[in-house]
Amino acid sequence: MRVLLIEDDLTLQRGLAQVLADSGHQAVVAGDGIHADTLLAAEPFDLVVLDLGLPGMDGIEVLERLRQRRQTLPVLILSARDRTLDRVRGLDRGADDYMTKPFELSEFEARVRALLRRGQGATLKIGRLEWFWDRREVAVDGAMLTLSRHEINLLEALLQTPGRVIAKNTLANLLGDDSAAAGDNMVEVYVHRLRRKLADTGIEIGTVRGIGYRLIPVQGDD
Ligand code: CA
Repeated sequence: MRVLLIEDDLTLQRGLAQVLADSGHQAVVAGDGIHADTLLAAEPFDLVVLDLGLPGMDGIEVLERLRQRRQTLPVLILSARDRTLDRVRGLDRGADDYMTKPFELSEFEARVRALLRRGQGATLKIGRLEWFWDRREVAVDGAMLTLSRHEINLLEALLQTPGRVIAKNTLANLLGDDSAAAGDNMVEVYVHRLRRKLADTGIEIGTVRGIGYRLIPVQGDD
């Protein structure tokens, strides 16, 4: 997925761009509102991450101009402005979600995933597998597959960007609790379980040594 990250704080910009890249997304960055507005008018994106306090043009104006052009892509506002009034104003002007700085990166990743899911249509079909974004369920040839919560989290992350590698530590974050990521062993255990359940579906989880995992079509042996 192609994400436009509009943020003038360079440390935060770099950190969030890295998080997006680790999740398999292509992050394009803009550090001021006018540059962001020009990019949005000219290029397709799947999601906008928008800071409000920006040089050149305020984030709210960038958002208003986007919606005036009838561009419907999801917008996630990141702002230090934490009054209810600011949140309401952002959502009223057409944002889909609003996060107050500072925030946990794992929450940022989760909200990005949720917003991208909305833009993707109801289902995704790969091989003989069909994934239902809203219900977070999976079927093989029309029959529902029973997966645990952790298996669902892993599979959903891999399905967001089929073919692209997802870092092992990104997957570990999905399996951990609120305070800590899971260990590498736990990722390996759940990938192993998921692989067994995905046998004969036409897709498999490939290992990219030292980096992570990705969904790939099974090389035909039939
Ligand atoms: Ca700012």
